[in-house]
Amino acid sequence: MTPDLRSRANAVIPGGVNSPARAFKSVGGNPLFAERAEGPYLYTRDGRKLLDFCLSFGPMILGHADPDVVSALREAAGRGTSYAMTTEAEIEMAELLTDSIEVMDKVRLVNSGTEAVMTALRLARGYTGREKILKFSGCYHGHIDSMLVQAGSGVAGIASASSAGVTSDAAGSTLVAPFNDVEAVETLVRAHAGELAAIVVEPIAANMGLVLPEPKYLLRLRELATEVGALLIFDEVITGFRLTFGAFANLCCAKPDLVTLGKIIGGGLPIGAVGGRAEVMNHLAPDGPVYQAGTLSGNPLCMAAGLANLRKLRELDPYETLAARTRRLTDGMKAAADEKGFPVAIPRDGSMFSLFFRASEPRNFAEVQNSDTERFAKVFHSLLDAGIYLPPSPFETSFLSILHSDERLDEVLTAWTAALHNL
Ligand SMILES: *Cc1c(COP(=O)(O)O)cnc(C)c1O
Repeated sequence: MTPDLRSRANAVIPGGVNSPARAFKSVGGNPLFAERAEGPYLYTRDGRKLLDFCLSFGPMILGHADPDVVSALREAAGRGTSYAMTTEAEIEMAELLTDSIEVMDKVRLVNSGTEAVMTALRLARGYTGREKILKFSGCYHGHIDSMLVQAGSGVAGIASASSAGVTSDAAGSTLVAPFNDVEAVETLVRAHAGELAAIVVEPIAANMGLVLPEPKYLLRLRELATEVGALLIFDEVITGFRLTFGAFANLCCAKPDLVTLGKIIGGGLPIGAVGGRAEVMNHLAPDGPVYQAGTLSGNPLCMAAGLANLRKLRELDPYETLAARTRRLTDGMKAAADEKGFPVAIPRDGSMFSLFFRASEPRNFAEVQNSDTERFAKVFHSLLDAGIYLPPSPFETSFLSILHSDERLDEVLTAWTAALHNL
């Protein structure tokens, strides 16, 4: 069945996928086709039942097809699927987000994480009257032109495009610093002090695999942004409601001016959000001069799924349990690898972890790239054959849902030990 799906997909969809990570390019082999998903499992068209650690790249923290989310969606669908008129559900979502995230007085809802960051950057530029944005190598902020960049050679810090089709103007408005390098970012910020609109960062970097910030690093970014009058943006599209009920910013001593959200707040439906201090947020249209809009923004289906998801999370408060299970899993994996003498680093935070086949936990993108990606691909396929689905890239983060029970995780440890044995 799937060879047919593959050829049909390839004939009419570029690369056969609607988002490149699904194509399995970095692990090799044939991409899978999903049939349905329920609880911690994904069921594929070729008959596999997979314990899912990708979880749609993060959103499905309650597991798939959560009954409360599904019934909220069913009810909402019967009341109509789009009105282009404000609903009480949008207000409830905004109230829930602003109540649970300290730095957020007001929030604008959009349709994806990309849109949330795009809006945050425009808002920062409109608010400060400046143009440059500083980002960090290996942090992902969606497929916005100015964020598809890499550290350039030549003029220190000025980025060059990492995708075809990105203009040199768009790339040239971005500065790129290595993550976790205080001196590098100080130098860049001070060199561009008068033109810097914002520093944007994934406070826990989770799109190059998982790379944790060093102590005081985020605080230093806060101080630098304040020193030069730039905004600090935490891109929490992954970390929002993943590590605590609210944003990572709640837990962090550095407080950002703006926070972007996505993924979990939509409960598996398309969503994004950008929020912060009222004084900054009021610069958005229609009250302010920074234009932003969306036909389907605040869509009633997305509100219904997102609210059901978040309310259940608030009620269950699963974060300590999730972290304890993740710790037990990753400690077990590390111990098995040590016993076999395979160098592997398994950074984790809350219910996120990633596997780097290298001796030490990477601190930045250069160190991430200096890991054995072939070994990752082999382990990925061994685990897949054992019914365990990791995100299909060595540079993505794995996630647990509340339904990844200790019993399921013991099965993972057994499969992991076997995978190492087969290396
Ligand atoms: C996923 C992600 C995005 C992009 O969100 P989309 O909904 O895929 O557009 C932006 N920033 C971070 C940190 C993300 O993890």
